[in-house]
Formats: sequence, C-alpha cells, structure tokens
Amino acid sequence: MINAFVSLGSNLGNKKENIEKAIKKIGSIKNAKIEEISSLIETKPHQAPGPNYLNGVIKIITNLSAENLLDCLKKIETELGRKRSFKNAPRTIDLDILLYGNKKIKTKKLIVPHPKLKIRDFFKKSLLEIEPNLKLV
Ligand code: AMP
Repeated sequence: MINAFVSLGSNLGNKKENIEKAIKKIGSIKNAKIEEISSLIETKPHQAPGPNYLNGVIKIITNLSAENLLDCLKKIETELGRKRSFKNAPRTIDLDILLYGNKKIKTKKLIVPHPKLKIRDFFKKSLLEIEPNLKLV
C-alpha cells in the first residue's frame, strides 16, 4: 500500500460542492481509501484567466499504480463536467497527484512529485496541514 496525496481545485460553478462531490467519488474508488482531508483554501489562478480557485489536498492509501490512480482521477474530472477548452482554462474540477509515496515518476502522462509542488504555496501548506512530518525537499 502507498500513501498518495491528491490536490483538488475548482474555479467554476459551485466550487465547494464540486470539491465535495470529487472527494465522495475518490472515496468510492476501489482499492483507495481516504485518510485525511485538508481545509479548503481560496487562491488566485496561476498564469491563467478566470475566477479564484477553491483548493484542497487529500491523503489516500492505495494499491493502485500511480498511472491507474491518474486514470481514475481523470474519469472523475470528466464525470464532474470538466471541459478541456484551452490550457489552464477555468475548470469545474482539477485533480492532480502531488506525491505518490516517495516515488519519482517522469513519463509522458505523469510527473510526480507534481512539477508545481515547489511554486504553489497552497500545495505545501495543505500537505503539511494533513501530514505535518512530511519532508518536502
Ligand atoms: P491538467 O490540465 O491539470 O488536468 O493536466 C493535464 C495533464 O497533465 C493530464 O492529462 C496528465 O496526463 C498530466 N500530468 C502530468 N503529471 C501529472 C500529475 N502529477 N497529476 C495529474 N496530471 C498530471
């Protein structure tokens, strides 16, 4: 089993409800269990137009591979009405894998730790809220 940290973000529609629905769906993924949920934080979009985001991070424990976990998250994004109109477009829900155990992954589909982990303050803030002993290098 691996501890993975997933970020949730929404800046379209009822943001809180979108995040709550996503958490419920993640909780019902077979072979994944939610262990912790951070508080939700409002942030400004990063290098993108549109309304402010509501963001949070959850900790899950899973035996899914990182790629299979990403596939499940993308499916949930689609189910919650995510449209990919242009890069960084406003979105009902954005689900990203921040950390997958202490694994480093770099494929066409997936980069872990998440490339923006170091530059987006709320990632670190939310991660440390739910996992205070986490070593972020
Ligand atoms: P996004 O616009 O945030 O939905 O991301 C677009 C693409 O980034 C996805 O379809 C993934 O294949 C890719 N990607 C690379 N690394 C990650 C990651 N750590 N978490 C989520 N998506 C990722």
